Amino acid sequence: MAIPIPSRQLFIDGEWREPVLKKRIPIVNPATEQIIGDIPGATAEDVELAVAAARRALDRNKGRDWASASGAVRAKYLRAIAAKITERKPELAKLEAIDCGKPLDEAAWDIDDVAGCFEYYADLAEGLDAKQKSPLSLPMETFKGYVLREPIGVVALITPWNYPLLMAAWKVAPSLAAGCAAVLKPSELASVTCLELAEVCKEVGLPPGVLNILTGLGPEAGAPLASHPLVDKIAFTGSSATGSRIMTAAAQMVKPVTLELGGKSPIIVFEDVDLDKAAEWTAFGCFWTNGQICSATSRLIVHESIAAEFLDKLVKWVKNIKISDPLEEGCRLGPVVSEGQYHKVFNFITTAKSEGATILAGGARPEHLKKGFFLEPTIITDVTTSMQIWREEVFGPVLCAKTFSTEDEAIELANDTHYGLGGAVISNDLERCDRVSKALQAGIVWINCSQPCFCQAPWGGNKRSGFGRELGEWGLDNYLRVKQVTQYVSDEQW
Ligand code: NAD
Repeated sequence: MAIPIPSRQLFIDGEWREPVLKKRIPIVNPATEQIIGDIPGATAEDVELAVAAARRALDRNKGRDWASASGAVRAKYLRAIAAKITERKPELAKLEAIDCGKPLDEAAWDIDDVAGCFEYYADLAEGLDAKQKSPLSLPMETFKGYVLREPIGVVALITPWNYPLLMAAWKVAPSLAAGCAAVLKPSELASVTCLELAEVCKEVGLPPGVLNILTGLGPEAGAPLASHPLVDKIAFTGSSATGSRIMTAAAQMVKPVTLELGGKSPIIVFEDVDLDKAAEWTAFGCFWTNGQICSATSRLIVHESIAAEFLDKLVKWVKNIKISDPLEEGCRLGPVVSEGQYHKVFNFITTAKSEGATILAGGARPEHLKKGFFLEPTIITDVTTSMQIWREEVFGPVLCAKTFSTEDEAIELANDTHYGLGGAVISNDLERCDRVSKALQAGIVWINCSQPCFCQAPWGGNKRSGFGRELGEWGLDNYLRVKQVTQYVSDEQW
């Protein structure tokens, strides 16, 4: 059963604040196409207030010095946030499912991951105390030195809609653990749970200004935030096109950025595999979260000797996927997030057909669902490497397939992309898996699986999938900078 969407305002300086221009943006349930509430629409005026609040949170003279609070103190808040999120898991999962269309049990796993991420960075925040100052080994006795690891300052965190609260957690938890103050700008297509994170921060008494949350449109709220002179760093997850704009804005002020962008990741299936297991991982790797995963392994590269049988199994597999309202028991595939995304995915399928590809499965709206942005999981064959479907990120439930005959050919096909986020290799020959993993031009490689993600392991891409790594210790380093301190050692008086 649906639950009411809480009506919220922007979260600035620890308080709810109406947007200066009083703008609201409707929330559409992608499963029903109905407007079910609205979110505040921030503009440059609100960005000013939020950035100023974040700066105050780091200002020693105002007695609000989050940056020099001990890691242990920051960890206490992060753990309290994790506990509240766990307490509110059923409600948060439902809100996520209604807002972005993901099946309820997937949304519930996301909420567990969100809490886990805050817990993990609480541990790292505590560990930071011991690592804050580390001695340098210098080659001259007359000099001694050390390195300080300091929070970068005020950070802008701009996130997408596919894992709304989890993508926010990947940035909020490490940035706060490091001692930064943050302004989070979630996607206008799915902001509801991020506004609930604000409520959680209020409940745990997070000091004012440490985390500010501005919902709103990209050009109206995201762009002024990215180009604000008092923001010290931008961490962005989203499309490559927006990432490029963010980088341009950052370049103008020589600001550091990390970019987690799109992908068109390959999955290579060799001839020595158990076909059923490989089909299951292939389907999961592409259709999980409706293919709306940056790392979706959406290009299948399968050995020619097993291709026909493998594709047959895959088609049977996807025909059994339950497509329904995300709140319905057993749902495996909900609607895509928005009408715009729905048409975008259809256009990809239409273009593939017009370029001569074959739609082996799916390619249409499920007949039993008359309303909502639902699409059948789609498998496309007879693809050439120049086709749009092979080259561009669909960000929807669409897999395209090609065959190969040699390992070298498989690697060449896999690397034939501007992107470099993920890649998977399925084979019984583990030496071959290691060889192929090394050869893949990607930031993440899965062997005999696709998509598992752990907050201990670095996440990020190469090429046009961006740069920098989130999660693990690398995620914390994103929000720290090192300072060298060198002392001239002598008996002289100074
Ligand atoms: P998007 O680029 O449209 O939007 C991302 C965010 O940027 C949103 O909050 C949006 O409001 C904001 N934005 C838009 N224009 C802006 C501007 N001019 N200045 C500042 N901010 C602006 O992406 P999306 O459609 O929300 O997300 C889908 C994309 O995200 C896909 O390409 C996907 O691959 C990528 N993604 C990558 C990862 C990763 O880890 N690499 C994870 C999830 C999603």
